[in-house]
Amino acid sequence: MNTKLSEALFEQANRYIPGGVNSPVRAFRSVGMNPLFIDHGKGSHIFDVDGNEYIDFISSWGPLILGHANPTIQTAIQAEVEKGTSYGACNALEVEMAKAICSFFPSTEKVRMVNSGTEATMSAIRLARGYTGRSRIIKFDGCYHGHADSFLINAGSGLATYGASGSAGVTEHTAHDTLVAVYNDINSVRNLLDLYPQEIAAVIIEPIMGNMGLILPKNGFLQELRELTRERGVLLIFDEVISGFRAAKGGAQELYGVCPDLTCLGKIIGGGLPVGAFGGRAEIMDLLSPLGPVYQAGTLSGNPLAMAAGLAMLKQLAEEGFYDKLEEIGAEFERLVREAIAPYKNLLSFNRCGSLCTLFFKSGGVKMNEDAKLSDTGLYARYFRMMIERGIYLPPSQFECMFLGVAHNTEDLQRTSKAMREVLDILFT
Ligand SMILES: *Cc1c(COP(=O)(O)O)cnc(C)c1O
Repeated sequence: MNTKLSEALFEQANRYIPGGVNSPVRAFRSVGMNPLFIDHGKGSHIFDVDGNEYIDFISSWGPLILGHANPTIQTAIQAEVEKGTSYGACNALEVEMAKAICSFFPSTEKVRMVNSGTEATMSAIRLARGYTGRSRIIKFDGCYHGHADSFLINAGSGLATYGASGSAGVTEHTAHDTLVAVYNDINSVRNLLDLYPQEIAAVIIEPIMGNMGLILPKNGFLQELRELTRERGVLLIFDEVISGFRAAKGGAQELYGVCPDLTCLGKIIGGGLPVGAFGGRAEIMDLLSPLGPVYQAGTLSGNPLAMAAGLAMLKQLAEEGFYDKLEEIGAEFERLVREAIAPYKNLLSFNRCGSLCTLFFKSGGVKMNEDAKLSDTGLYARYFRMMIERGIYLPPSQFECMFLGVAHNTEDLQRTSKAMREVLDILFT
């Protein structure tokens, strides 16, 4: 594999960009490689600057559920860009987008657009604090909600305590306001609510956990969380930045039949452009400025190019049978993967939900964050490097999902599982 041009670009990048990247996972550090610079994409494939071709299982970390360079989305962006790029004023497309989101997600009566998932979660907790008049929030160990201060908190020692800052630059004060519970353990949430009565504004969760690799909610967990938060007057925030428009048309809340108070969206709704959104009951959302006292704003929010791309995306997702097709592709891939890993199945765990999946280098299943942490990341790194040599572009970390989309065809999936089998044979014998 010739990576001369990527190597040269990375050297330049390192001179002018910290670590050479604009988002840390791209640096490929946890798989012991230098990053590849991507030139273009088409359908399920991407091409680097050296001309190498890969089957892409990152899909820009989720947004490209229709594959790269989707013609309908490209046409929509082109039509809009002819007219201009941004006005800092109202435009018709943002109204259409708000209507579309509210129809996909019945729990959202009103929605506000932002520019990233981080902005969506950050704004949602400010709103929850404004609504409840309380300061603290509960998050779950292993769930990722973007890079705002309040979320960069690790579980402290002992579950009864507040969290510890997971990043330099986050104040102790902020860490004190974020409590950390255990995903799939309702008692860990109940304990925190008992310990800090009347102090907790919101519980925020990835209903389907996609940032420790894929971990699914156990039977009844989300329902219990809904009942418990309602009982205590605490808002339940679903961060569906990954699961929204992916787990089902209406996200994890539709799949599991649980209705949150607020929902955060991102990734897919931008159709590949930078977008986020948060929405919920009108009674809560109407506390936002200019109607209410909770301030929230954005110079480029509701940007017409991003709205055009997002709407072109949602229109295709709303087509009859889209999610059945996506599930078929996911199921076909699971069958092929299970075949490929059969000889080593006692050494590996495979989780899938629709078009999301993770192969963990860990025996005995991954049901909790603690299980995922036991994965052999060194082995994953070797697996990653051998797969990329074979033209398969996987997440450069054990703790990220593979993202399938409708552009992945049977040939892609068969080539991938064949490479997997080859690589596992080398790794395990
Ligand atoms: C990616 C992600 C975010 C952050 O979105 P950005 O657009 O990267 O700021 C938030 N929550 C979840 C669940 C995510 O996967």
